Formats: sequence, structure tokens, C-alpha cells
Amino acid sequence: MNTIIPPWALPSVPVVGSEAQFPVRRVYCVGRNYAEHAREMGGNPDREPPFFFMKPADAVFTGERMEYPSKTADLQHEVELVAALSRGGRDIPADAALDCVFGYAVGLDMTRRDIQGELKAKGRSWEMGKAFDQSAPISSIMPASRIGHPQRGAIVLAVNSQSRQHGDLSDMIWPVADIIANLSGYVTLQPGDLIFTGTPAGVGRVMPGDRLEGSIEGVGTLSVTIGGNMAAART
Ligand code: MN
Repeated sequence: MNTIIPPWALPSVPVVGSEAQFPVRRVYCVGRNYAEHAREMGGNPDREPPFFFMKPADAVFTGERMEYPSKTADLQHEVELVAALSRGGRDIPADAALDCVFGYAVGLDMTRRDIQGELKAKGRSWEMGKAFDQSAPISSIMPASRIGHPQRGAIVLAVNSQSRQHGDLSDMIWPVADIIANLSGYVTLQPGDLIFTGTPAGVGRVMPGDRLEGSIEGVGTLSVTIGGNMAAART
């Protein structure tokens, strides 16, 4: 294709055991999918239908050092299981949904919580609290052909070696298959889509220089250091 400006690199994520990358099409995120986290955010832990928000595909970050973002004094971590889709569709039944999943990764739904809170209070869209540059750090993708589809297992996050988040995949209010079934009623899911599936309790603030280490049993690990300078970033 002849393009009027130079085309950019396709956002992509490494795949465990492969030289080939996973190309990222869209990034969907699920809100409040663990009961304890729903409570800590002041919400209802009951099984209400899942709700979704998005990040741009190029918010995916596979480096080791993410810059502290602008306009916030309350950058927070949310460690999440990420499902990477190799097949899509619409109105996908839950019992066929896992056939769409190529593999799984450890992700961080980084959040400018102060901005999110201000927007939420005004009844406005969360986007500028959630969908910023480098806001979706992610590990290499572990193919489901190697590990199957994890239904349980520890999901944890430590900051500077201190435990912050600790949950189990079995605590998800909506498991991956149900998320895909529900989301595919709103949009036609596509190969390359990523789904961040929500975070367990214990979300909290990070500062420049902090080292975040996330892990999901059987899936992988993710290490990210927060770079930059908060005072400069807030101007
Ligand atoms: Mn989240």
C-alpha cells in the first residue's frame, strides 16, 4: 500500500519458544473481575455482567523501563492475566471461546488513578486514566499449546521485592471463556486482540525507581522498572 505518511511498526509481543512475534490488533480490558478488588474500589463484588474499556494497541510495552507518565501523582499497578486471541468472531459461545485463545501473558494495566477518579466522579470516560503511552506492559506470550488454559494458579505482584497483590485465577468473577463470550456480543473479536482480564486486590501506587515484578503460575513473569522523574512528569 502507498501511504501518505510512513507506516509505523506493528505493535507486537514476543512468543515463548518462537522467533515469530504476536501482532497486536486491539487491547480490551475488563474492569473489576476479582471480588476483593471490586470491594477495594468501592464497587459491588457480585456477579454483575463484565464491563470493558480499551487501550491503544501501541500502549503495549515490552521493554524493561517504562517512563513515569505525565499528569499524575498516583500511578498504580494492576497485575492481570492477558489472553491473546488467534481467532475471533461475534457472539462466540462460552464453550467454544477458549478455541480462540492462542496463549496467555502476564500484563500490567497501569493506571493514573487520580485522573481515573476525577473522571469517574464527573461521570466521564476513564480513557485518560487508563489509555496512555506504555500503559500496558506485558510479558512474552506463553502458547496454550504448551500450558493449556489456566483456570487456577497464583497471580502475584511485588514492588521492590515487597508483596503487593496476591490472588488466584480461580477467584475471577468472569473466567476467560465467559469474558470472550460476553465481549464478542459487543464487538467482532479479531485475531491479534489482547484481553486484560482484571486484577486481584492490592493495587497501589508506584514511584520512579520502583521495580515491579509480576508473576502468574504456569504462565510467566514480568519485570518493569519505573523510569523518569515524577516532578518533571507532572508539569
Ligand atoms: Mn485492570
